[in-house]
Amino acid sequence: AIGIHGAHRAFGDQVVIDGVDLELPSGSVTVVLGPSGSGKSTLLRAINHLEPLDRGVVTVGDETIGVRVRTGRGGVPRYKELPERLILRQRSRIGFVFQHFELFPHLTALENVAEGPIAAGVPAATANARAQELLERVGLGDRGATRPRQLSGGQQQRVAIARALALDPSVVLLDEPTSALDPELVGEVLGVIRALAGSGTTLVIVTHEVAFAREVADHVVFLDHGRVVEQGPPAQVIDAPQHPRTRDFLSRVR
Ligand code: ATP
Ligand code: MG
Repeated sequence: AIGIHGAHRAFGDQVVIDGVDLELPSGSVTVVLGPSGSGKSTLLRAINHLEPLDRGVVTVGDETIGVRVRTGRGGVPRYKELPERLILRQRSRIGFVFQHFELFPHLTALENVAEGPIAAGVPAATANARAQELLERVGLGDRGATRPRQLSGGQQQRVAIARALALDPSVVLLDEPTSALDPELVGEVLGVIRALAGSGTTLVIVTHEVAFAREVADHVVFLDHGRVVEQGPPAQVIDAPQHPRTRDFLSRVR
């Protein structure tokens, strides 16, 4: 389960996360929708220690993540850091899939997937065997020796999803996983995410693919100006939105 309580984040004068509270049960699939600049990526990054919050707490399972909080006395920001060791351990339980894949260009597909576990101390033979299984799971069992440059965008993103699963995370966060892809490659990546949904892993997906969201999401959150404007099951938020801003957004992305 993921809990987000009283989350706030500003960049200078601009408030980007403005009092967000969310409870996401274990194994659930949450889709976050919202206009550009509404704070979706900032929220996702806060869950994975890529971005500190000014205030608020994030919990993943029974562990508090968001205590790398920026505190200020007399306007001076001060970071209350968790020990790096703890941050790394928490991150190992959370997979992250980026819009632009972010694979290591000099490593093969298999090495990209096995790298995290090897760095975490898993014996190379075990990590490589597991990486091969994960590549098969995303339909790339025969591409392990290929470098990212020789793969299509959809294939690279599937490698990135395999990499995000390599440490058996309890949570996978996906930030617009298909928006950098040519339209004909979107389906193969959504197919892999669809298979992941319902596998027990807690998923949080930022996407503009509304039809996909309606199909896979247990819970839809509509974010605008850093606030949760509306949330609930897709039949409610997507099919019968109550808030004018949700309606306006949906009419523009569909
Ligand atoms: P998009 O759909 O375009 O990806 P988003 O909902 O993910 O948008 P965020 O990336 O979370 O939005 O950004 C929210 C706001 O915060 C934007 O106005 C952005 O310019 C600002 N912002 C994000 N990161 C930083 C930063 N490191 N420094 C300053 N401003 C930032
Ligand atoms: Mg974003």
